[in-house]
Amino acid sequence: MRIAVIGGGIGGLSAALQLLKAGLDVHVYEQAERIAEIGAGIQISPNASRLLLRLDLKAAMDGVGIRPRAVHQRRWDNGHTLQFAPLGPEVEATFGAPYYHFHRGDLVTLLADALPQERLHVGHKLVALDQKPNGVIARFENGVTAESDLLVGADGIHSRVRGLVFGPEKPRFTGCVAWRGLVPAERIRHLDIEVVSHNWMGPGGHVVHYWVSGGRMMNVVCVVEHGDWTRESWTDKGEVTDVLARYEGWHPTVRGLIGAFPETFIWALHDRAELPGWSAGRVTLLGDACHPMLPMMAQGAAQAIEDGAALAALLKAMPDDIAGALARYEAFRKPRATKLQQASAANRTRFHLPDGGAQRDRDSALSTSGDRSIENIRWLYAHDAADVR
Ligand SMILES: Cc1cc2nc3c(=O)[nH]c(=O)nc-3n(C[C@H](O)[C@H](O)[C@H](O)COP(=O)(O)OP(=O)(O)OC[C@H]3O[C@@H](n4cnc5c(N)ncnc54)[C@H](O)[C@@H]3O)c2cc1C
Repeated sequence: MRIAVIGGGIGGLSAALQLLKAGLDVHVYEQAERIAEIGAGIQISPNASRLLLRLDLKAAMDGVGIRPRAVHQRRWDNGHTLQFAPLGPEVEATFGAPYYHFHRGDLVTLLADALPQERLHVGHKLVALDQKPNGVIARFENGVTAESDLLVGADGIHSRVRGLVFGPEKPRFTGCVAWRGLVPAERIRHLDIEVVSHNWMGPGGHVVHYWVSGGRMMNVVCVVEHGDWTRESWTDKGEVTDVLARYEGWHPTVRGLIGAFPETFIWALHDRAELPGWSAGRVTLLGDACHPMLPMMAQGAAQAIEDGAALAALLKAMPDDIAGALARYEAFRKPRATKLQQASAANRTRFHLPDGGAQRDRDSALSTSGDRSIENIRWLYAHDAADVR
């Protein structure tokens, strides 16, 4: 079976590796001239890391990844602990795979390096596709065409494949804006920040930060409710003074981190409503192309990796029935991805509650049951997306 994957992001590359391992003939077409990612971090939880580890990537992942000891959720002003839950050896022992933090560039590079280079076609921007009864023809801006038995749109939130198959529809602005910064370790040694995943919650905003690049950099993302910036570009520069002004009164560690930004980028967070279906004929979607979500569950890329695992397992099991495999792929994956889209949106509200009764209720729930305790997170981390029985 010949498969064309459109998009060489975390979703497309990991899907291609999983499809290749399933014995399928897969090629990836990426619009950019080289595989690259923005300067930011990404958290990869055990539900996704177990799938990547099966691709013999352990040495590469351990070489550049950081394994956080815990997740620490704290109050914005005085730093009081709302929840401290394990992410280290206890999580690995329980779920059979570690929790990692990566620089995004490190992760896409190790995925791209694992793919035979003749299967990766950079500088190929998909502009059109024709579906025939027995195949799909992809047309690229550079004049190249590629025929396949199945085409997978892994081309992100602005997916061209999605638009061509299901019609144009724009992502919606969620009302949240994020600033990101990547801080060299030497600038913040005095803050003595532990190797844990930190989340500070405050009225109208939150801040997530964690070590990446083998501990040489701290990735920091500051999210606020802020309706007047709607551009989604990942390369718009912001002003550090604006971020500091927005985080007036926050804990000195948060302000110390922001103050140490060498530069900051600003972008508006978008998502989309649930799609009625993910596939049409011999075309299907995965990752942000079909289920973009807010980052408040840190699961967008993890779910893309899960999509690839399920798709590969089903196509391997049903090589003569692409339509049947796609129907099962959607039935298996869509409820879980939709649940995570909804959970991410719900966390946006929970993380940003104003001081008051609802916030106190949240804090007491966090300190007693806790949303990240091993038992409460089992449904998410224990899942094996390749187990499609
Ligand atoms: C602030 C923030 C923090 C996040 N943190 C986490 C986290 O900790 N953990 C997590 O799991 N997720 C996280 N996410 C979500 C995660 O970044 C995305 O869900 C994930 O990157 C989606 O991967 P993808 O491969 O589906 O799409 P993308 O990464 O968008 O990749 C799509 C690729 O397709 C290419 N492409 C687009 N159009 C075409 C075309 N016409 N032809 C050819 N190629 C094309 C693009 O160039 C790109 O390389 C976060 C998101 C944000 C905004």
